[in-house]
Amino acid sequence: MLTQAPKGTQDMLPKDAHRWQSIEENMRRLCALAGYREIRTPIFEHTELFQRGVGDTTDVVQKEMYTFNDKGNRSITLKPEGTAGVVRALVESHLYAEALPAKLFYVSCPCFRYEKPQSGRLRQFHQNGVEVFGAKDASVDAEIIDLAMKLLEANGIGDLKLSINSIGCPECRKAYHEKLRAYLQPKLSTLCKTCQERFERNPLRILDCKEDADKLTDAPAMLDNLCEDCREHFEKLKSYLDAMQIAYEIDPRIVRGLDYYTKTVFEIITETPNGNLTVCGGGRYDGMVEQLGGPATPGIGFGMGVERMIMVQDLRSIAPQAPALYNVFVVTMGDDARTEGIRLVAELRAAGLKADIDHAARSMKAQFKYANKVGVGKVVVIAGDELAKGVVKLRNMADSTETEISRDAIVAKLLETK
Ligand code: ATP
Ligand code: MG
Repeated sequence: MLTQAPKGTQDMLPKDAHRWQSIEENMRRLCALAGYREIRTPIFEHTELFQRGVGDTTDVVQKEMYTFNDKGNRSITLKPEGTAGVVRALVESHLYAEALPAKLFYVSCPCFRYEKPQSGRLRQFHQNGVEVFGAKDASVDAEIIDLAMKLLEANGIGDLKLSINSIGCPECRKAYHEKLRAYLQPKLSTLCKTCQERFERNPLRILDCKEDADKLTDAPAMLDNLCEDCREHFEKLKSYLDAMQIAYEIDPRIVRGLDYYTKTVFEIITETPNGNLTVCGGGRYDGMVEQLGGPATPGIGFGMGVERMIMVQDLRSIAPQAPALYNVFVVTMGDDARTEGIRLVAELRAAGLKADIDHAARSMKAQFKYANKVGVGKVVVIAGDELAKGVVKLRNMADSTETEISRDAIVAKLLETK
């Protein structure tokens, strides 16, 4: 127990740090290019926020949340996704009163869901995502889709398939729900228990059910029942995607069946040797800010799973290479040389070179062995007698050649050949 991480959790080990950092850097870089600013919200929130913000008919809220009472007897939930907390912060800090649209992003946001641990499904995972508030035009739908595709590509995740759909607005959905219920009614007894419960409150979700969806392929589609405004929005989105040369498929089965999710929904999957994996999901939620106590403000966003991206990199054998741990290692012999070595390492670091010296009182031979083990390309050798002459040796580990260099010139020399 003591030496095992809880089920469904993973350590990020040092060997993978560069991969996480590279994914985070791509997020920061590409988001900045489009005017997005970072936001960080707490890991836990009042449970009610997710019940209202994610919706209490979703799997996430019904089955997957980590909810507990704290010592003050408040119901607290570890965040299962990134959007609700950001909406809460927007309302609480009146970000909606600043210049709109508010374009926000978050990186490596921890998310918690009590799921059955299996390949690609963790109980603590991380999402990168964006949320845009105060922009109702379909141009922003196209913008975040473009951003999501570019982010995935920057992380080496190709063979992407973008599927889009529109789930309309509360206006057109009302009539559609009636049509859908009429279609589902005779089949109701054959559907799973959860779907039977969804029938009244949220029939659209039934189309998204992993158990039942295959039986319902001839269900009426929301897409054929959009009101004028929603239809126009979807047409515009398609024309903007075309203009940006982003290929898409229309998939009427993608839903986010909640009243405050509106219009555009999308998913991006990638093909891997082990089948298709969803790496990003997003959509518009024009009703959510109001639902959570703010003024009516359109919103849209996406979330992408960081561990999923790393898994896809592994499956496709495209993990980025770790950068060298050090530019140079300093090997010393004797006490005077060691003191000089410590001074030199400080100088090298101040000059921006990654440098280190033995910290385990090893013999010279063992110092070299260590340098080899961590893959250092260059070693500076300081020995007492040479130091008296004001020189050190620079050893190239690849071909074992050594050159003598004046102590005063070594930092500049190493900088030159960095
Ligand atoms: P699914 O249908 O696979 O359960 P979802 O609809 O629950 O997905 P979202 O809530 O849209 O997923 O989450 C966005 C992204 O977060 C997913 O595309 C996936 O990359 C990642 N993700 C979701 N759940 C998990 C999990 N349990 N472990 C790891 N990553 C996850
Ligand atoms: Mg899920």
